[in-house]
Amino acid sequence: MLKNMNENKVSVKQDYIKGGTQKDFYNESERESWDCPYCKSDSSIILDTDRGLSVVRCNKCELIYTNPRAKDSEHNYFGDVDVFENEARLIFKNQKPHHRDRNYIYELKKIKKIKPSGKMLDVGSNMGFFMRKAREFGYDVEGVEPSPSLAKLSREKWGLIIHNAFLESANLEEKSFDIITLIDVFEHVTNPKEMLDACNKLLKDDGIIVIKVPNGDYNHFKMKLGKITGMGYSMDIWDCYEHVVHYTPKTFNNMISSCNYKIQKFIIPLPIHTPIWADLVGHYYLHTSPFILDWKRITLRNIFYYIGKMERVFCKKIRFGPDLMFVIKKKHIV
Ligand SMILES: [Zn+2]
Repeated sequence: MLKNMNENKVSVKQDYIKGGTQKDFYNESERESWDCPYCKSDSSIILDTDRGLSVVRCNKCELIYTNPRAKDSEHNYFGDVDVFENEARLIFKNQKPHHRDRNYIYELKKIKKIKPSGKMLDVGSNMGFFMRKAREFGYDVEGVEPSPSLAKLSREKWGLIIHNAFLESANLEEKSFDIITLIDVFEHVTNPKEMLDACNKLLKDDGIIVIKVPNGDYNHFKMKLGKITGMGYSMDIWDCYEHVVHYTPKTFNNMISSCNYKIQKFIIPLPIHTPIWADLVGHYYLHTSPFILDWKRITLRNIFYYIGKMERVFCKKIRFGPDLMFVIKKKHIV
């Protein structure tokens, strides 16, 4: 036992592997430039740089996006199936919760109030962690996951129905879903308008789409704070190796309005407490770090979350809510 623990500790400290193909630095041949994915303007200002990539804000529409971005960032999760399986082994055995389970339950409770039942499509379903909870809430769930490794694990470990494809090429029946969810997914999407159009075809006329994204205004605020305090580059604020667009309430509304949707409900979801103790326990996904080990960040996130909830009522800009969750519906539906 002790030997195993020591082995884990050593291997994790040397090179912790998350299973994906993300890198610490992207050189010129590994990055690509693109125009603003909302208005197609090529004029922008740089807000931040990280890992050889830049976070910019469009001068025309204010959309914050990663440019240049990592080439083929959509394939980040096409990693090795054994690494993914090992990483989440105790969750698959139902011995440990996922560290985001409390977030998923909170989000599903919100969805349940709006659509208590029906056919749900989870886009970018990863290893099926959100879907397994949605199934417990009584939804008839299907997932779309482009990564062969993640799709395989979701089917084998949870018995879920997974379409192993990008949404646009998944060949699903039109107007067949009551709910489409993109939980922590839309910020990875390099063709957001095409994705929203594809969802529109699959959604029933009275259906809803639930999209949860990190808050660009919050990250921008955190970036400024990080630069003042000198802690900025240790915080990995933008996750720009995989997050290609950093939506704010304003730019999100612009994006979905242009694709014939309107916002039905806007929620500040619970903050995600990312585990920091991988080097102690030998795995990353399994449950949140104990409060005592990460009390400063957990406390700060919770404070920001409550301020964000107040901002949602009183302000246009949400600087403190770490994440944004939108329930949207087709525009022509009253
Ligand atoms: Zn733009």
